[in-house]
Amino acid sequence: MKIHEFQAKELMRARGIPVPQGTAVTSVAEAVKAVAPLIEATGNPVVVVKAQIHAGGRGKGRFIEEPELGGVSVVTEGRDGGVEAAKTKVGDLAARMLDGTLVTVQTGPEGKPVRRLYIEQGVDIDRELYLSVLLDRASSRNVVMASTEGGTEIEQVAEETPEKILREEIDPGLGLLDFQARQLAYGLGLEGMAFKNGVRFIKTLAEAAVELDTDLIEINPLVVTKEGAVVALDGKMSFEANALYRHPEVQDMRDLSEENAAEIEASGYDLSFIKLDGTIGCMVNGAGLAMATMDIIKYVGGQPANFLDVGGGAEKDQVAAAFKIITRDPNVKGIFVNIFGGIMKCDTIAQGIVDAVDEVGLDMPLVVRLEGTNVDLGKQILDESGLNILSAADMKDGAQKILEATKS
Ligand code: GDP
Ligand code: MN
Repeated sequence: MKIHEFQAKELMRARGIPVPQGTAVTSVAEAVKAVAPLIEATGNPVVVVKAQIHAGGRGKGRFIEEPELGGVSVVTEGRDGGVEAAKTKVGDLAARMLDGTLVTVQTGPEGKPVRRLYIEQGVDIDRELYLSVLLDRASSRNVVMASTEGGTEIEQVAEETPEKILREEIDPGLGLLDFQARQLAYGLGLEGMAFKNGVRFIKTLAEAAVELDTDLIEINPLVVTKEGAVVALDGKMSFEANALYRHPEVQDMRDLSEENAAEIEASGYDLSFIKLDGTIGCMVNGAGLAMATMDIIKYVGGQPANFLDVGGGAEKDQVAAAFKIITRDPNVKGIFVNIFGGIMKCDTIAQGIVDAVDEVGLDMPLVVRLEGTNVDLGKQILDESGLNILSAADMKDGAQKILEATKS
């Protein structure tokens, strides 16, 4: 689960990690109101207006309706004591950003609607660095990654200058050791106060990752000021979903409006559903069979529109809900139902499909492969339904049949 930058900074602030002061707002009036207290509290006349969406690359992003406007704007008008000027500028920016659609390299061409802004104290940047703690699934450990190339996408650094990425693996029993934090700080070229602050920053961030069960904390850029302060200018966090029950304060930060509507609806029915970009909708029971079904669709040359595991003991209405969620996706050109009845009975699936079609209709090809418990009863229900169903002998046959049917 992802959260917004302002929420990630809240969690960091609570753990003593230096972040700039800021206020999250949802209206122009609130944005304007946030400016004077910030300038007063920090003595810094620079204010930054940042769009809050679950995607990075905002600095270089563009609003669809305001192509000359990015998702991060630095306001310096307050320089000559002009708090009023800063307020005016922030109000103007907020009016243009709020309810706009921001497109960045991470949002896809359709962009994401901006419903909230973060009005933040400006920071005088001396150097921009990169720092992250991520769960490395290969070693099953958290790894701290750092680079002097802050402000640029780490994927680009990894591709062009991989030697500029420093890594320290965290032993889960010992935590990040002092010498590892010092090695990273040294590698980042930090000296004096900045070195001391950097070491503390890195250690605290590594602790936060364990404490919060994150799979990623990314600070890009981590900035060093002329005074040697080390501050998180940006903050991205994502959390291991299976550990969320341990963190109610994080659960409360979930922003459903940022998530895929179909996936949210599916989770309400206890269905494991992930939307993908292909054209063949899949309804399968068991995660392993669902993966195998996606593989075989790709193998015969098709593209799955989703991953869907209806689970081992799904009821009729769950099957019907799954069917409706699949057919609502405008990209879906056909459906492949692949069920191995174990605990799940084939007649339950068949009845769920018939019920769903009764309710929402079916205007695309449907291939069904049923096997296992009550298979004959299931086939009988489908036969007697009068639905136009192509039945498949096995998985590969089914994948080929649905691909053919969606092509014609
Ligand atoms: P992202 O593009 O979504 O990753 O958003 P960031 O929070 O990283 O902001 C993008 C860029 O805006 C940063 O890399 C900085 O160069 C710039 N920026 C953000 N805040 C400040 C600030 O307080 N002062 C200055 N000078 N630049 C800032
Ligand atoms: Mn960033």
